[in-house]
Amino acid sequence: MSSNPHAPSLYAATANPAPIRPTLVGDVEVDVCVVGAGYTGLSSAIALAESGMKVAVLEQSRIGWGASGRNGGQIVHSYSRDIDFIEGFYGKEMAKPLGEMMMEGAKVIRERIAKYNISCDLKNGGVYAAMTPKKVRQLHEHKELWEKWGNKDLRIVEDATEVRKYVNSARYAGLLIDMSGGHIHPLNLALGEAAAVEQLGGNIYENSGATRIERGAKAVVHTATGKVNAKFVIVACNAYIGDLETALAAKTMPCGTQVIATEPLGKLADELLPTDYCVEDNNFLLDYFRLSGDKRLIYGGGVIYGARDPAHVESIIRPKMIKTFPQLANTKIDFGWTGNFSLTLSRLPQVGRLSDNIYYSQGCSGHGVTYTHLVGRLLGEVINGQAGRFDAFARLPHYPFPGGRLFRIPFTALGAWYYDMRDKLGI
Ligand SMILES: Cc1cc2nc3c(=O)[nH]c(=O)nc-3n(C[C@H](O)[C@H](O)[C@H](O)COP(=O)(O)OP(=O)(O)OC[C@H]3O[C@@H](n4cnc5c(N)ncnc54)[C@H](O)[C@@H]3O)c2cc1C
Repeated sequence: MSSNPHAPSLYAATANPAPIRPTLVGDVEVDVCVVGAGYTGLSSAIALAESGMKVAVLEQSRIGWGASGRNGGQIVHSYSRDIDFIEGFYGKEMAKPLGEMMMEGAKVIRERIAKYNISCDLKNGGVYAAMTPKKVRQLHEHKELWEKWGNKDLRIVEDATEVRKYVNSARYAGLLIDMSGGHIHPLNLALGEAAAVEQLGGNIYENSGATRIERGAKAVVHTATGKVNAKFVIVACNAYIGDLETALAAKTMPCGTQVIATEPLGKLADELLPTDYCVEDNNFLLDYFRLSGDKRLIYGGGVIYGARDPAHVESIIRPKMIKTFPQLANTKIDFGWTGNFSLTLSRLPQVGRLSDNIYYSQGCSGHGVTYTHLVGRLLGEVINGQAGRFDAFARLPHYPFPGGRLFRIPFTALGAWYYDMRDKLGI
């Protein structure tokens, strides 16, 4: 048995059967060593193995043990900051290629599910929900922006009776429906992708944390019991990077977010979310929810800057859920868990090179399910000699958090409190 089981989530309890992969022992020789078996690592490993490269993936724990096996499962396009922000801050030239790629991650997910026959409860349809007329105006802006960048599957719903046909809650003044969004069982997606890596000839080693990456024309990735000699390395550790590469860890802040899952709801599930689309609100500190394959409500929200694990997840999230769905006042919560994502100051991902042959991607800041699948493809491209699209992301500047390691948490929490207050006051 593994010494590092998955977090005790609904996903771990309903995971498809998967073998425990071996621990790395001794030396192996590959084209590419990927460190981290979340979506970033697995997605790039598939892209590289599909292009004929020999790949080894090292995972310190279990496949999908990090955010990729614990998240809300919502397929959301674009990035944690949208294209209008990127255009306003960095200019049209920087924004254009990113806008052109903003829908691609979701396509990669659907292609992989179909090609490798991954069973992960894929459902189509996503909803952005607004609580106030001001927030509804933002939905209209959002729609206009995304249509400009090629998303033609969008529709606004403002009539109160119509709103309830999608989300049966009194909280929302309007919705933006995106039929190209959707949701998945996140851990089963990761496990299916891991099986695809192996089907393509790659090797995955669990309980095999990288302890050091030695630079050189051939890089050497060390673990406690072995090493991987590789022409290229991808660092895909995100919020769980620890001390492996301190310069990367210093540029981001791990943040915790919590999720609960109710008992199976039967018919009540269809009353709450009649279309079975996933939902997130458009507040700064947002709530997100959806139904699982076995008709539980999965509800997440909140952020803990610095990623301390809270003792009672249910006491944090249940009141949020009841505010949205008072119908669930007497419903039992079967699971509660926490997971970490990696926040950057700009809330845009950080992509780049640590040396000529060592690449990284981190910091997708909350929305990462689609981005990690896009960047996996881009990492495949850059290692195969096509740097253009990877460099479109690598050009985005990386800023340090104000306050350094000591004060970055209170400073960031203060900023978030300001935006949260504005949302609560409707200004
Ligand atoms: C609770 C929660 C809910 C979320 N909900 C959504 C959502 O609904 N939609 C959305 O778009 N995004 C969501 N996100 C964000 C999304 O899950 C992440 O952005 C994405 O999964 C990050 O993938 P990753 O592969 O980069 O990182 P991770 O999945 O965290 O993977 C990193 C892996 O690296 C491994 N690792 C670390 N150090 C080492 C080492 N030294 N050696 C070997 N392995 C190592 C870790 O064990 C881990 O498995 C959510 C995140 C959380 C935490």
